[in-house]
Parts: sequence; structure tokens; C-alpha cells
Amino acid sequence: MDSSSVVSPATAFLYFADLPIELQFQVWEECLAGPSMHIFDVRIPSSDDSGDRQRDGPRRKHGVFLDPVRSVDDPSMYKHRQALRQTSRLASLVSKPTWRATNTVYLPGRREATAYDNDADVLLLRLGAAPGGHAAPTGDDHPKDDLLARPGIVGMMLDAPWTAEFAETLRAARRVAFRAADVQGKTPWCVGDAFDAMRLACCIQQDLEVLYFVHEPSVCKCGCREWETKRPQDNVVGGRGRRELDVIQGMGRTYREVRVKRKNRDRFVRYLDAAVRQQQQDTGRVTFKEVRFLVAVDD
Ligand SMILES: [Zn+2]
Repeated sequence: MDSSSVVSPATAFLYFADLPIELQFQVWEECLAGPSMHIFDVRIPSSDDSGDRQRDGPRRKHGVFLDPVRSVDDPSMYKHRQALRQTSRLASLVSKPTWRATNTVYLPGRREATAYDNDADVLLLRLGAAPGGHAAPTGDDHPKDDLLARPGIVGMMLDAPWTAEFAETLRAARRVAFRAADVQGKTPWCVGDAFDAMRLACCIQQDLEVLYFVHEPSVCKCGCREWETKRPQDNVVGGRGRRELDVIQGMGRTYREVRVKRKNRDRFVRYLDAAVRQQQQDTGRVTFKEVRFLVAVDD
């Protein structure tokens, strides 16, 4: 292999600074264009928590809160924007928000928060997989004859007290995503699941436009594996009101919409869909379009 053809990221960046300013500008804009994915861990405090108290501060005591994904390969675009702003003055000009609507995510720590474009971007909430968080109980723990048992992570989140900040972020978010593996039934369906769907709908329905469910092929072993085989052939959803399938950009990861037939949808997803529609109709403010499905693909 010809070693002269290998360009390290550091060298590539130096070359980048030599490019004409208009070209640099274009690259930055390209980098930041389109709907972005912002990912957070939903942290559910418990009474016996002892670790991490220092870092999370007093907010931990007050209830459920959002935490940045503590991993170097977190594809969240808000981190990328922050890094860009610190890297280059040019980038800080380009990435200056021109959003018509913003939503704010409050993070643990003193007055830490980040905002994103509430019209286009998607807020992905990870449940039960955060280090130090609670793992979702397995199906084996489920008492089969107790119809009201709600062992799922969604129920745990709903049962715990919430911080005002978490509630506010969820209420204002227009495009909310959950990982399919976090919400889809791993246990026998029970009345409690329908109850959870209704309660979750209450918390997110206001101003909600699209509810996404994300399948991550690298980690997910759930029933949505079949989504992987569905390729967006024509890239357009047919019928009335045709539109392009959504493509949500993460850093190094792209979330592509796939179509999942209504009858193939998980029951929790169907209940949540119905509950959001019903509640918006009841309040007389209907903004909800539909449930959509995304497959995460590493670039
Ligand atoms: Zn999946």
C-alpha cells in the first residue's frame, strides 16, 4: 500500500483550512444540513442510588432526568455542533441557529442545557441502557397471572417522580423517538401495557407531530429485525400526501425511515399511536401526523 495516500484526520483538517473560504463554508453547511438526531439517556433515580451523586448533583434526587450518552461514539448531532463551534470561527457563523422553533434539553450539572431545532430534529430517548441506570427486567420476572403487573422500563419511568425540566422537554418536543427494543413487548401483553401507553401519551402528546421507533441492527435483537430487509426502494411513501421517507442525520450514523405495515406493528406502538390521536382530539389541538420507523445505519 502506498503510504502517501494515507491521510490522517489531523492532516486532512489542516488541508481543510487551506481551502477557499467559500468551499469551507459549503462543507460546514453540508455537515449541518437536514434533520438531526439528538440522543439522551433517561435516568431513573432510585432510593438506593449511591454512586455518581457528585456528578449528577441535586437534580438526581428530584426525579427522572435526561443525561448525555456517555460514550465516545454517541452519534448525537448537538455534541458535534458544540465541537464545531469551538473548532472554528467560521463554523460558529454557519451553525448559528436560525430555527423557528427550539426545544431545550436540561442536563445534569449547573445550568447546563442544549437546544435543538424543534421543527426538524428528533429527540431520541434511550431507556434502561445507561451505565448506572436500570436494565429493563427480562421476561422471566413477569408474574404470568398478574394482569396488572408492569415490569417494563416504560412503566418504571412513568412510576418514578419526574424533574420539571424532563417533563417540560418531553411536553414541548415535536418529534420524539424511542428505541424499539426499549418499548416493544418482551413479556406477555398485559393490561398494564395499555395503561402505560395511555400515560406516556399524556406526557408527550402536546404539540407532537411524529413519533419514531428506532431499530439499531448492531445491538437490537428484537422483533424489528425484519425491518432491516425493508429497503426504501422508491424513497417515497405512496398514496395521498406523498412524501420522501425521512432521513435523520447523526454523527457517523444515519437513521433511515422504513415502512412497517400496521398489522406488523408491536401492540405497544399501536396503543401509543391511538392514545396520542385520541388525546389530541380531546384537547382540540391536532398536530400529530403518524408513527414512523427508522433503521440506524453506520456511515
Ligand atoms: Zn430492533
